[in-house]
Amino acid sequence: MEETSVLGAAVEQVKGVGTRRASVLKEAGIHTLGDLLYYLPRRYLDRQRILPIDRVLAGQEVTLIGQVRQMRFVPGARPRFLLVVEDDSDDVSCVWFQGGRYLQRNFQEGDVLALSGKVELFQGRRQMVHPEYEFVSAAGEQALLHTGGIVPLYTASADMQERGLRSRGFRRLVHGALEAFADQVEDPLDLEMRTRLQLPDLAQSLRQVHFPASLEEAHRARRRLVFDELLAVQLLLLRRREKRRREALGIAFAPSQKLVPALLKALPFELTGAQQRVVEQIVQDMGQPVVMSRLLQGDVGSGKTLVALCAMLTAVDNGYQAALMAPTEILAEQHFFNIRDLVRPLGLDVAFLAGGQKAAQRRQSLAAIESGLAALAVGTHALIQEEVTFQRLGLVVVDEQHRFGVTQRGALYGKGEKPDLLVMTATPIPRSLALTLYGDLDVAVLDELPPGRQPIRTALRGEDRRELIFAFAAEQMHAGRQVYIVYPLIEESEKMDLKSAVEAYEELRSGPLAEFSLGLLHGRLASEEKAQIMEAFKEGQLQGLVSTTVIEVGVDVPNATLMIIEHAERFGLAQLHQLRGRVGRGGEQSFCILVTYASGDQDDSDAAARLQSMCQTQDGFIIAQRDMEIRGPGELLGTRQAGMPEFKVADLVRDADLLVEARTEAERIIAAENP
Ligand code: ADP
Ligand code: MG
Repeated sequence: MEETSVLGAAVEQVKGVGTRRASVLKEAGIHTLGDLLYYLPRRYLDRQRILPIDRVLAGQEVTLIGQVRQMRFVPGARPRFLLVVEDDSDDVSCVWFQGGRYLQRNFQEGDVLALSGKVELFQGRRQMVHPEYEFVSAAGEQALLHTGGIVPLYTASADMQERGLRSRGFRRLVHGALEAFADQVEDPLDLEMRTRLQLPDLAQSLRQVHFPASLEEAHRARRRLVFDELLAVQLLLLRRREKRRREALGIAFAPSQKLVPALLKALPFELTGAQQRVVEQIVQDMGQPVVMSRLLQGDVGSGKTLVALCAMLTAVDNGYQAALMAPTEILAEQHFFNIRDLVRPLGLDVAFLAGGQKAAQRRQSLAAIESGLAALAVGTHALIQEEVTFQRLGLVVVDEQHRFGVTQRGALYGKGEKPDLLVMTATPIPRSLALTLYGDLDVAVLDELPPGRQPIRTALRGEDRRELIFAFAAEQMHAGRQVYIVYPLIEESEKMDLKSAVEAYEELRSGPLAEFSLGLLHGRLASEEKAQIMEAFKEGQLQGLVSTTVIEVGVDVPNATLMIIEHAERFGLAQLHQLRGRVGRGGEQSFCILVTYASGDQDDSDAAARLQSMCQTQDGFIIAQRDMEIRGPGELLGTRQAGMPEFKVADLVRDADLLVEARTEAERIIAAENP
């Protein structure tokens, strides 16, 4: 959305903002009138619903409003800071055992506070220990104690608090700004759309979001502002897509006559209905004389690799090269071996490029890519280094794209003239996130697993059951199956976690799994070593693989039927889903055991509830949605480099329904712009 001129005005134009205040506001990111008006309340207090102090029962969790009557620092064996707050009905004591000095400076008698927490009885009097507090108004200001209605509460930075910009000070600024400027705010949405979507106009929304008459009004106003923001992002993405469609003349590939039919004929199975449909979609798209930008979403094990290979062979049949880039060396290598074996009978050469490879091999790969001898290239981000030159690159496939930065995607893209692009995500992502992250791509969805897959039986167990669990692992190995035992690897404590995987490996090798051959795989190994261990596991020479999460993505060993995940509470749901997808790839019944270690605090029950959803469903989309609700969109992707736009007011979890509406409206607008 273009910023209407008045919202772009400097914040100094607002009455009451001098240079000093302006600099405090700027520290908080508020430079313009628009920034100020879009600095929304963090929450609202509905005074109708606030109990008088004398009505609060012991043990109740409440928010109270009262005025500071007394404060003092109480020395002694357990020094504490005491604040007595009263309203018309009674008073309550607030106690802090830490931070007394800071608090003493922070409050003044006469301040009106909103206090949230649990009320207890102590020596017959109401007391709150370490309540959360917010300033409703400061001492000396006309107290808001007796006014009714809804009180907006803002998050104030420490600086803002010190400069009188907390609570009422800030509200007054916003109020003044609205009085002076709201009438000049132009609404970018036309009346027709507002009426259809039942959205209030912009000026009214800005007023009501700050000073609502009711919580419902605040909610409606906020939704309007969220809608604007989401619509702006969708318009941007769709305009980008439209521009590409109109301008970027790409290669029009003819459907493959030779290679794809030959590949399919040689496979020991048929493509699933979904694979056929998606391959058709992609080939159709590649046939257009514009650059393809398509996202392929599909759950773990849905057979994305084969779909990608069909696209790659279509490019090759047209006299072009195709490249596939994967996020880790193990995965790249596995793709390489798979693809090499599949295309060797077709007489095609595949080049491999990864950081850890030997110089001679690397030179050979580079030469094959440059001369065009290698029709296909598979690798890690090594593929996008400068010295890599393709003879004639026609298609780029990026696997597990969200692990790459957007720039990396672009770099491989720049290696051809106008290559088509196919992005594959291994982790299903919720629709709201897909629309935002990949909103400029066309989407194909593989929504069917190959036949004969049995659901993976998943159980949640405490560490006290480890003996039984490893006895079960031994049973599986005796039956000729293979087992993964996974340990978490969290970056900050990489050393410690590494130690736990190594220790576990030693423990298992000399204890419960002594009669089997085990391998140990972790990120610190040289890539050659990793590849050897992976290969040995794949070949069945190793019966058990103790590993940190380096096996997370893509690894494919159909004979593996059991996965034990230690410290499951430390993984995100989407990651667990990925891991679990490593078993259940063959015809045998497979199992996943999530082992949790109690920390003894509140987190335990949260974790248990979260992990239960793993036992309840295997639908990656449902799991991803839950994961996003719990951890937020940024964490879900495991990285912040994913190119997520920063939202000021929107929240992709809470506002998912609005996002879908914004998408529809954006499509409508773009269609009208491009008849
Ligand atoms: P994804 O990358 O989507 O997780 P993969 O491409 O690794 O899945 O495929 C998972 C496994 O399923 C592989 O072993 C692959 O050979 C097998 N597979 C793929 N398509 C089919 C099919 N149509 N029928 C049977 N097995 C298939
Ligand atoms: Mg895959």
